[in-house]
Amino acid sequence: MPQFYPDAPESYYHALVKTLSSEVQPREGSVSAESIMFSKLLALSAIRDEEQYKAGFRIGKLYYAKAYKPAKYKWYEDAIPILMSLLQHLGYKATYRMSSLGNPIITLKQSHSIYLGYDMHSFESGIISGFLSRAKNSYVRMYERECSCNGYEECVFGPGVQSRQTMDSAILLKRFALHLQGSHLKAVHNDFSPAYNAVILAPIKHAKVQYSSMYLLGEYVQNEFGFLNTNTLPVRMIMEIIKKVSAYESLESSEGSVSMVFDPLNSDSSYIESLSQFIKGLTGNIATVSQGLSDSGLNYTLTIDFGAKLLKLKNK
Ligand SMILES: [Zn+2]
Repeated sequence: MPQFYPDAPESYYHALVKTLSSEVQPREGSVSAESIMFSKLLALSAIRDEEQYKAGFRIGKLYYAKAYKPAKYKWYEDAIPILMSLLQHLGYKATYRMSSLGNPIITLKQSHSIYLGYDMHSFESGIISGFLSRAKNSYVRMYERECSCNGYEECVFGPGVQSRQTMDSAILLKRFALHLQGSHLKAVHNDFSPAYNAVILAPIKHAKVQYSSMYLLGEYVQNEFGFLNTNTLPVRMIMEIIKKVSAYESLESSEGSVSMVFDPLNSDSSYIESLSQFIKGLTGNIATVSQGLSDSGLNYTLTIDFGAKLLKLKNK
């Protein structure tokens, strides 16, 4: 497991890229599409779309430089299958074709999509552009022209510049809450790598994060399910929602309380704080949420104590 230095972002990026380029992917496919989206929403509450593109660009460039010898490729197109394997490591079904003008058109597909009404993958546009720019040795700007979060079947990236979109964060959060409401009983598709979650969170490591939006998201989800209005607080349902949006490593539950342990990659204080705000909003502040560090000092833990009041209503 790589060492991380919170005050040295450059080495953190290197460690992430090293994890992504290693042959053996740790616990591949153990994070849901919802938890990836939760992290994206958290990142969006701290930095703008354009900065996400730049952060992705940095990862893509570094990945090419670190994992492969540029001299090996005579034509930059030869390197594209390596970009595909990175995107597949993240958890996407990634394919590409060359357009009649000789430009790559890249498609990312996931097992189920989340409708939010916006193009949500400018970070991924950045990864693709960064990788291709480094491979070609000149700037390649790719943008997302179709998005699975915006009415299309899959996300399609091609050369060009994104048209500016103004995101309404309240609409975004409400739509995500609506998605969770419709999906909570369906099987969880844990298609994504925990390293992908860490990569999405990397740009906000030193940003000022607005956790209030995550509290609000919790409240919206609670309203969708009607926990408090109907005076029933089904613990099991709450747990299902929390499990779905969190990139946790392991989970232990006992009478009335649940403890989640996060792997070192996702043991990020801003991430843990955002989850605890979400849980507070979701449970109407009735549950007590506490954070800690494991004995090794590498893993964060999050404990949710449902208390006697909620326990009485357990499984109702
Ligand atoms: Zn997309």
